Amino acid sequence: MSYVQNRQRLIRLIRIYPVIAIAVLAAAYLLGGFTDQVDPLIPQEVVITALYLFVGAVPLVFIIAFLIIGRVGDKAALKNNNHTDKLNYQSGFDLPVEQMHGYKLALITGRTPTLTGLTGDTYLSDSSAKCSINSEHVPPVAQCECGFYAYSDIDEARFEGSINPGAFLLDVDLYGVGFKYARGYRAETQVVNELITPRRCQFCRTLPAKVFVTIYKLGYDDTSWWQWQIRCVICSSSFKEADKLSVAQMSEKLSLLIT
Ligand SMILES: [Zn+2]
Ligand SMILES: [Zn+2]
Repeated sequence: MSYVQNRQRLIRLIRIYPVIAIAVLAAAYLLGGFTDQVDPLIPQEVVITALYLFVGAVPLVFIIAFLIIGRVGDKAALKNNNHTDKLNYQSGFDLPVEQMHGYKLALITGRTPTLTGLTGDTYLSDSSAKCSINSEHVPPVAQCECGFYAYSDIDEARFEGSINPGAFLLDVDLYGVGFKYARGYRAETQVVNELITPRRCQFCRTLPAKVFVTIYKLGYDDTSWWQWQIRCVICSSSFKEADKLSVAQMSEKLSLLIT
């Protein structure tokens, strides 16, 4: 099984950890761990020790599993980058051709709405990648990390979206020189075809999403920024008109189809 699937599994397990923790607490209570019963079913010390072990050991297991999966992922990326010997093509026309269609996540930030990748780079709906490490690079460079990234699988993009609340799903086409990696593509230029909004409000997660609102976010180290969310009628009602945009207005600001 790939490290991507392992990572997804681990995150899903962490999500059910609180439920398991409550079940364990309930079991400890029922077994007499919190009462002064004279003759409990299982000795109180055993219950309490098991509880401590659970609270201490399980998160530790999660941390170790994350470290291992992270290392495996780094190794896979390195191995992928070391395949440059395969890139000896006599002419650009000999390069294999493949349509690079994919999905990615982006935030909408700024007073004037701007697409911002999860790594913090801003881009237009149609743009060429720039390398932040080496200005001489024309991305993507095989040995570097530059270029536009996209997942080839929408389910993987959706899963990443579920652990990045506030991010929007983008449907993109990548052009120019591109590389395939385990999860999708990395390429020179990117055209965003559409922004797929979540069906439910990003605040209450219950009612249908209707209108974009902007929130002032305070970060560490004196950083602060405006971030746009799509909310339901109720969760957006307290916002000033200046801090709201309809879907059509947002679509115009980003020059992008919003569905
Ligand atoms: Zn680079
Ligand atoms: Zn709401």
